[in-house]
Amino acid sequence: MDLSFDDRVAVVTGAGGGLGRAHALELGRRGAKVVVNDMGTSLSGDGVERDRAAIVVKEIEALGGTAVADTNSIATEEGGRSVIETAVAAFGRVDIVVNNAGILRDKTFHNTGPDDVDPVLDVHLKGAFNVTRPAWSLFRDQGFGRVVVTSSSAGFFGNFGQASYASAKLGLVGLIKVLAIEGRKYNITANAIGPVAMTRMTSGFDNPLADYLDPALVSSAVAFLCHESCELSGEVLSAGGGRVARVFIGVTRGYLKGDLTAEDIRDHLDEVFDDTGYQVPGNSMEEMNLLASMLGK
Ligand code: NAD
Repeated sequence: MDLSFDDRVAVVTGAGGGLGRAHALELGRRGAKVVVNDMGTSLSGDGVERDRAAIVVKEIEALGGTAVADTNSIATEEGGRSVIETAVAAFGRVDIVVNNAGILRDKTFHNTGPDDVDPVLDVHLKGAFNVTRPAWSLFRDQGFGRVVVTSSSAGFFGNFGQASYASAKLGLVGLIKVLAIEGRKYNITANAIGPVAMTRMTSGFDNPLADYLDPALVSSAVAFLCHESCELSGEVLSAGGGRVARVFIGVTRGYLKGDLTAEDIRDHLDEVFDDTGYQVPGNSMEEMNLLASMLGK
């Protein structure tokens, strides 16, 4: 049976182009009422082009769907609250928040100044707080909610020139890990995607896979994670080019010695790094339990 979103209301930030547009079209095509948020910035976050969101609304309507445009900046607390207010005013509820808006200010760490850090953290990391927090209390009251954040392989694995971007993107993984734990009893899930797609953000790089990287292929992962039948939470999916894969943070069994010294670590690095029987703890306590079991406690 197809995954339908009838009667669901979805907010997609940064949905005036690229991946956000594709997510909004996919959710709209599947029956969700969509708030298409986008203030229409340049790649670096400057400037405002307010009709971008309205154009995507028209595209959703052309597919037979229902959508409303919102041009607030999600980089401020007030803006984030206003996006959720737009959803409630237009459709009476919110079920899904897809935090997708993003900017780039790539510089080597040596050349990175405050102007390259704060705006990036404000849009990517704090933006997710700004939009998800006002939705969260609605989710708790209604006993249902789906949160997706947009992380990146730059955060998981690192990338030259992206210190602030990578920090923001991995911060989002910490956020969904906690939201997954706190949301469990309210039927709220929170997951992250690490997309790979050709958009204006990536078109500057020469990519031999460009023809395979349709943003709509990433939207399939977003739709899956947002559906009421999907119980995954606290997970990270890498999605792009038709491939979807789990990204995880695991821990090796490690090396244990009661009176551990720096020299012991030097001499037992193979055991520290041996990933045989590694674990992926579901929360920080589970890592403590691993230590306890090795200590025989
Ligand atoms: P994009 O530049 O096409 O889309 C980003 C959108 O966010 C733009 O339309 C922009 O106007 C909007 N935006 C920026 N600041 C905003 C603000 N303060 N309020 C509201 N809207 C704002 O780029 P994209 O590739 O579609 O990126 C979407 C997301 O995916 C970003 O978070 C990006 O970091 C992430 N991402 C993309 C890729 C990729 O391969 N394209 C890879 C990893 C992560």
